[in-house]
Amino acid sequence: MRKIIICVLLVFGFTLLGYGKIKVVTSYRYIADITQRIGGDLVSVTALAKGNRNPHFITPKPSFIAKLRKAHLLIINGGQLEIGWLPPVMQQANNPKINTGSSGFLSLMELVKPIDVHLDVSRAHGDVHPEGNPHIQLDPYNIPIFARAVKDKLCRLDPDNCRVYMDNYDVFNNKWKKKIEEWEKLLIRVKDIKVVEYHKLYDYLFHRYHIESLGTLEPLPGIPPTSRHVADIIELIKKHNIRLIFQDVYHSAKTARFVANKTGAKVVIIPHDVGAVKEAADIFSLFDEIARRLTD
Ligand SMILES: [Zn+2]
Repeated sequence: MRKIIICVLLVFGFTLLGYGKIKVVTSYRYIADITQRIGGDLVSVTALAKGNRNPHFITPKPSFIAKLRKAHLLIINGGQLEIGWLPPVMQQANNPKINTGSSGFLSLMELVKPIDVHLDVSRAHGDVHPEGNPHIQLDPYNIPIFARAVKDKLCRLDPDNCRVYMDNYDVFNNKWKKKIEEWEKLLIRVKDIKVVEYHKLYDYLFHRYHIESLGTLEPLPGIPPTSRHVADIIELIKKHNIRLIFQDVYHSAKTARFVANKTGAKVVIIPHDVGAVKEAADIFSLFDEIARRLTD
């Protein structure tokens, strides 16, 4: 009897501690939130990057290596968005399960059609993303595509629980479809408006909702604004009567505010990831908050 009680306690304790769960590491928080919704109690998910940091330049911490070493599955954004920070920590973690091409690896960029693919890969155009614009998470129609791939991946790694992942995916997908209708009703109000953005961070959102981006505050991707370029942008805003300047949470908004002052355009700080602002606490509230900020 005593032995049975000890066994039960051990199993219960291990479950509480997360033993037996599929350990998933994701580069960004939006991926972690989707994965948690599909995996439920059967997975433990950690995002390496915080949602309010520049996704191109995450400072790796020693804890990243430990997390990657224990992971059964690594899910990245891809499209070289992580190229500046993730490869060295993956190498140090030395976990063959999650290497590129292994069964425990998933890159979301490969699932969608990228925009702005540059065939000329020289850095003459700034720090471009040669495989196309990697900021794929801001088209809400991409999110169920990612969720489905996560479901397929979890089914392959843990076939015994595939039914659970499929059910979770169905619940998520139905809820998401309803939210898309809600966001569409709101965002119809910004259809065909002309905007500028700091970095080409919002282009998938723009494509989806017919928002026209006429320029960036960065003269070239990854290059900070210069006074010459800012003068050109001010001219552009005046010429086309641009009303909104899209600013991310991780660059200083000083230039955007300066340009706004000179032109009467309005700066909108738009979150790009879960956790970028406190209102964007999960994948649903991220899009709720984007829609709210754009139609306020
Ligand atoms: Zn970028």
